[in-house]
Amino acid sequence: MVALRIRQFTLTRDMTDIEAFRSETRAWLEAHCPPEMRLPVRSEADICWGGKRFRFQSEAQRLWLQRMGERGWTVPTWPREYGGGGLGHREAAILRELMAELKCRPPLQSFGIWMLGPALLKYGSEEQKRHYLPQVARGEIRWCQGYSEPNAGSDLASLATRCEVHDDHFVVTGQKVWTSYADEADWIFCLVRTSTEAKHTGISFVLIDMTSPGVSTRPIKLISGKSPFCETFFDGVKVPRANLVWKLNDGWTVAKYLLTHEREMISAMGERAVPLPVGRSALKSLGADATGRLADPALRAEIARFEVDETAFRAWLKMFGEQARAKEAHPAVSSALKYYGSELNKRRWELTVAFAGSDALEWESERSGQGSIARTWLRTKGNSIEGGTSEVQLNVVSKRILELPES
Ligand SMILES: Cc1cc2nc3c(=O)[nH]c(=O)nc-3n(C[C@H](O)[C@H](O)[C@H](O)COP(=O)(O)OP(=O)(O)OC[C@H]3O[C@@H](n4cnc5c(N)ncnc54)[C@H](O)[C@@H]3O)c2cc1C
Repeated sequence: MVALRIRQFTLTRDMTDIEAFRSETRAWLEAHCPPEMRLPVRSEADICWGGKRFRFQSEAQRLWLQRMGERGWTVPTWPREYGGGGLGHREAAILRELMAELKCRPPLQSFGIWMLGPALLKYGSEEQKRHYLPQVARGEIRWCQGYSEPNAGSDLASLATRCEVHDDHFVVTGQKVWTSYADEADWIFCLVRTSTEAKHTGISFVLIDMTSPGVSTRPIKLISGKSPFCETFFDGVKVPRANLVWKLNDGWTVAKYLLTHEREMISAMGERAVPLPVGRSALKSLGADATGRLADPALRAEIARFEVDETAFRAWLKMFGEQARAKEAHPAVSSALKYYGSELNKRRWELTVAFAGSDALEWESERSGQGSIARTWLRTKGNSIEGGTSEVQLNVVSKRILELPES
């Protein structure tokens, strides 16, 4: 009886704390999120990536990042000593819900937050965490990812960028490719070969300042007319030994862990970026029949199928998040999520192009947000390649989840 009362008291106190957190957070967001940062993201130009070379689109964008960064709410669950908000998962979920409800834009998008941060939290030294993570949280440095090479993509462990090991420094020589935003990044997290004796156990994970002598980038132009990624060259680049993350020749361990976060990030990318559900956008574009339904029945059926799949995917993402927090998630599930999320996002934009009609053909007009539909549709084609191709994810699912025999 006493135990029951204590439990009820604790539960009531927890609920009171959570409700207090909710109302304080709502009031803070309403007071501190500038009105411009509550408008939908129209194009890539509205996204804040931070970093030394980033040009803020407006004072409101700069202020929003600064205010959220000071509170640690760009990375709500990271510990406070590393620049995070120190929130529990329940509070972080409330913050996410409120930001969605109040239509607050994410203050910062960053490979540092999505990929390097989790890897450093697990494998970085205390010094590395205290040095790099707060700068990531405040959007002061922008990171890019140096994994792929001309002869190492799906078979990443074939990478050949050479790293000579000296007493207090390394010397890196070689080439990376498809390095997203390398020409805008301040630092690169990079896989290099420190030993040729064994494939996987001769790789190390190092952090390289992009302004180091010997680093250069060459943008690769795409069908969209943009250059979201580059070739990155290292010509005898001297890197302090302190920039090694984890152990020499065991960078593969860090690389794999980081990839699970990259896959989760890509799988949820489509869900994060959607300004309006597909059905509602279609209704706005095509209009309704006499009963208020989308006028085109064939498209209506296809959109309904898509939205059912999307709802199921969201539920799956949520369940995975809960399992991951309870440390009960199967590690290979990130591959299944990445596969399904990428394919779903491609379907989303195929449908959008189908109902947007001639609007989807606009490329540069102000009205179309500089051709945002056409460019996003083209960009989604890369979702099933980046972070590991769909075929490779299916291989992982078949071997590690379904336990099918190797062919
Ligand atoms: C938009 C975008 C952004 C990217 N950003 C970055 C970045 O920032 N940093 C970075 O390091 N890399 C980046 N990449 C590179 C990406 O990780 C690689 O393109 C990807 O891993 C595939 O490697 P690959 O291009 O060498 O293709 P390959 O490995 O040569 O594959 C070619 C084809 O063969 C198939 N294939 C290969 N092996 C198998 C197999 N075992 N079983 C079945 N099919 C197989 C593949 O599925 C694919 O269809 C990016 C790519 C894209 C598209």
